[in-house]
Amino acid sequence: MIYADNAATTKISSNVLNAMLPALTEEYGNPSAIYDFGGRAKRMIELARGRVAGAIGARSREIYFTSGGTESINWAIKGAASTCRMKNKNHIIATTIEHNATINSLEFLQRQRFDVTFLDAGDNGIIDPAKLREAIRSDTGLVSIMYANNEIGTIQPIFELGEICREFDLLFHTDAVQAVCEIEIDLGKLPVDLLSISGHKIHAAKGVGALYIRDGVEIDKFIDGGNQERGYRAGTENTAAIAGLGVAMQDVVEGRQNKIYVKKIRDRFLEGVLRIGNVRIHGDKEQRLANNANIGFDGIDGEFVVLALNRYGICCSTGAACSAGAVETSRIIKSLGYNSKKAKEAIRFSFSEENTIDEIDYILEKLKEIIKK
Ligand code: PLP
Repeated sequence: MIYADNAATTKISSNVLNAMLPALTEEYGNPSAIYDFGGRAKRMIELARGRVAGAIGARSREIYFTSGGTESINWAIKGAASTCRMKNKNHIIATTIEHNATINSLEFLQRQRFDVTFLDAGDNGIIDPAKLREAIRSDTGLVSIMYANNEIGTIQPIFELGEICREFDLLFHTDAVQAVCEIEIDLGKLPVDLLSISGHKIHAAKGVGALYIRDGVEIDKFIDGGNQERGYRAGTENTAAIAGLGVAMQDVVEGRQNKIYVKKIRDRFLEGVLRIGNVRIHGDKEQRLANNANIGFDGIDGEFVVLALNRYGICCSTGAACSAGAVETSRIIKSLGYNSKKAKEAIRFSFSEENTIDEIDYILEKLKEIIKK
């Protein structure tokens, strides 16, 4: 098998697995228990909290563990909206290219009579900070803009966007689920109040994530119950997955150096794709994640190509959400200005440091065969 769908999920690394195993076997104590056996589990969680914080320049107390990116985003947006409403700030700004976790959270808030402005990302998939400035109103309370896009890999100017939010005293959340593996994040300097992370995109387990909440920022708690996560996110902690997330975040800091190699193989792939011809690359060519290549062959259905590559053991995706086996037309590609037919042509390859040059060449060979046929 050749795995080129790392934006969908990643393989658990051996470091992560080794960190998880004790909690899955001998160290199964409840972290809330007051005896030593529980205390050891609690210590694993606190060690992981420190590691996550350290990797993004945050303080341990600013990190809250969740069940993944979707939960972190739901909490950040709905929790912040709730405190904004108390100040009569019922307007939220986001973008048209956010993940469904954000879009659907905002649609929920629209039903609660919040007003949401979705900024257009233009034909290159990058938000122009001037558009954010223009959209701000006297009742704006929250801005949520993703750091890097999951389909086309475009990277937003988060520092500049955050500075504008600071200027107008707005809460600023960023979905950094796809960004942390490649972009250095220092929350000591980055003007962001809330930041979402997911484990399974960075070689940790599925079903674990974290939300960074800047000291002093007040958002409503999300899950009621016990006193876990300082009472803000109740429920007995997934100790093993959390321990793994801590190690994954630590490894991410060193792993970012692999970006040069990943970019090299991605660029080799794109050069090969351009040689096949009748193809376009979606999203900005420079301001994008090094591992992402989102392409479309003129007149050829993306799903057809993905399934044809699957026959050769190659895993890639159309990049769009899949519901009940049916691939939806990509909202992201459409927001770049393409019609539904063109949006259906999109294919996303997302590489990792584990992909070899031989694998890239094999994908290109099979891609050429399929397209020429
Ligand atoms: N945000 C982005 C940009 C994503 O790519 C994903 C996962 O596809 C999510 C949020 C949701 O994360 P999770 O799968 O951990 O719920």
